[in-house]
Amino acid sequence: MAVCEILSVGTEILLGDILNTNSRFLSRKLAEMGITVHRHTSVGDNPERLAQAVREAFSRSDIVIATGGLGPTPDDITREVCCREFGFELEFSSEQADKIKSYFERKGIAMAENNLRQAYIPKGGTVFENRNGTAPGMGMKKNGKCLVILPGPPYEMAPMFTQCAVPFLEEYRACTIVSHEVRTIGIGESSLAALTADLLEMENPTVAPYCKPGEALLRVSARARDAETAEELAKPVIDEIINRAGEYVYGVDANGIEESVVAALKERGLTLAAAESCTAGYIAKRITDIPGASAVFHCGMVTYSNDIKIKTLGVKKETIDNYGAVSEETAREMAAGVRRVSGADMGISVTGFAGPDADEPGKAPGLIFTALDAENFLICEKLETGRTDREYNRYVAASRALSLVLKYLKRQDVQ
Ligand code: ATP
Ligand code: MG
Repeated sequence: MAVCEILSVGTEILLGDILNTNSRFLSRKLAEMGITVHRHTSVGDNPERLAQAVREAFSRSDIVIATGGLGPTPDDITREVCCREFGFELEFSSEQADKIKSYFERKGIAMAENNLRQAYIPKGGTVFENRNGTAPGMGMKKNGKCLVILPGPPYEMAPMFTQCAVPFLEEYRACTIVSHEVRTIGIGESSLAALTADLLEMENPTVAPYCKPGEALLRVSARARDAETAEELAKPVIDEIINRAGEYVYGVDANGIEESVVAALKERGLTLAAAESCTAGYIAKRITDIPGASAVFHCGMVTYSNDIKIKTLGVKKETIDNYGAVSEETAREMAAGVRRVSGADMGISVTGFAGPDADEPGKAPGLIFTALDAENFLICEKLETGRTDREYNRYVAASRALSLVLKYLKRQDVQ
């Protein structure tokens, strides 16, 4: 199996000015190819120390991937130093120079002469086109070893790696890993892990539990020579997870519950409205982040004060007086109210204490009630996050309210 090292070049990394996310990205991608990463090295913009790092890396490893320091300024030394150490001569490419010039022309900015430093490419090497900047990347192979040089900015580096470096490294690929996320809401990470304990012991595919705010998810990763075989390994395990935890699963590889809710409503031609207290529009925002939400979403009403809950949603004053604004009873009446006012097929609601304090004695921040009202149907759920973080509580409250929609639709589907 090929062994690789990642060399991050830039004094700003050593100073702690930037986080070395390039190494993380590259390590993940290389692992997916079955290429083992043995070391991450960070080195400043210093020619001697960079040269030494390159020599050391090649004395241990087959592949060295360097990022950063391909810019036009004198402190950008990666191209020169790495190519020299690996025994490749740089030569001026008028084709590259034209590309750089036209990049500046397209942007309508004058090009500084020193940008043409980026037109030097290794003789006998492969040039990686930079679609998001000016500095081309490069790949070189010699005596079974391989050097890849990529620009520092992550939005240039990442697409270049995927589009150009992955094909360049293909001969070193030992396997393909495919992974899928089964996302759940309403079950804790430990309960989900207990439900799938035997699956978590598997070696291929592996099943690993993760947490996101208000969610537990399982990542199923299968490794095989090709993607198709890996998918075949992963599928029965994903099916088994859905079989066991289906009531909580809202999607596989979904981009958040709001996406699944909009898709499910569209599929069935149903509509939704939301009455929000502590989330104050978070549900409406997340739903309308999804393109095409207008087909399924009638309105979001931010009913923050008690008075407005009574006036606009028809929540009974006695309900709030007797049970409090943060109560199951109020949540139910809010959901029913917004459904009535909007004419949507279902109304959802949220009322809770977002934190850092609870406004009523004896109640805790993170106490949240969500409800869903539909024809001949009402569900209400109580949630205690135990957290005082406002953003967290509001996000989780919105997610939970949205999850009631899927719960309701699943029950309708069974009937
Ligand atoms: P430029 O042409 O912008 O100078 P470059 O290839 O010379 O690009 P650097 O000068 O090393 O790259 O870094 C430019 C910027 O890219 C940094 O300020 C930082 O924002 C980002 N960057 C560089 N290296 C890394 C890294 N390892 N992880 C994350 N971001 C990085
Ligand atoms: Mg630079």
